[in-house]
Amino acid sequence: MPVKVVMAQKILRANEQVARENRERLNRLPTVNLISSPGAGKTTLLEKTIQGLRGEFNIGVVEGDIYTTRDAERIAGQGAEVVQVNTAGLCHLDANMVGRALDQLELDGLDLLFIENVGNLVCPAEFDLGEDHKVALLSVAEGGDKPEKYPLVFRESQAVVINKSDLLSYTDFDMNKVREEIRTINPDTIIFVTSATTGEGLEAWCAWLRDIVRRKRSATG
Ligand code: MG
Ligand code: ZN
Repeated sequence: MPVKVVMAQKILRANEQVARENRERLNRLPTVNLISSPGAGKTTLLEKTIQGLRGEFNIGVVEGDIYTTRDAERIAGQGAEVVQVNTAGLCHLDANMVGRALDQLELDGLDLLFIENVGNLVCPAEFDLGEDHKVALLSVAEGGDKPEKYPLVFRESQAVVINKSDLLSYTDFDMNKVREEIRTINPDTIIFVTSATTGEGLEAWCAWLRDIVRRKRSATG
């Protein structure tokens, strides 16, 4: 599928207001805002998720990237409907950008929408995009200090994915300690341990996604 691209404009209206409008437009469509630092594996996880849910759900992706369409092309290669938001240097997505991306999507034909935020653990956590769920992703390769250093994103996330579990034995990442730290920051969040490379944990992750689709469908009739 071809990649559509929208460019960021100067913020026109208050984020909160536009996030509310996005949420109304997404009324029946479950939406997940995926946040991580660069290189944690968001795009690979999305590719594997699209494969895992193929035949069940039509998936759309709003792909936030500072300059390139590389990730959007990878996602489009999986057959998902993709809109690239080129933030032109900005380090996060805001609700205005996502609203303009939604203009480009056939929302009625989708069952699940992902927003791949710009790789950054800091300010993406501060912007409501109109999503249902924020999901924080961190990889064992980046070290275990992320929850303590960037607590806001972990506090705001309904789920945390600890990715690249296949690399665990090559790092000093202390899984139990990191789990505890995440639990301390956000006792209600669900933690998945995955390897998008080997497929470990992807079934549980996809089961959670099926569940949020089911829940939103029954809530919205
Ligand atoms: Mg990416
Ligand atoms: Zn930013």
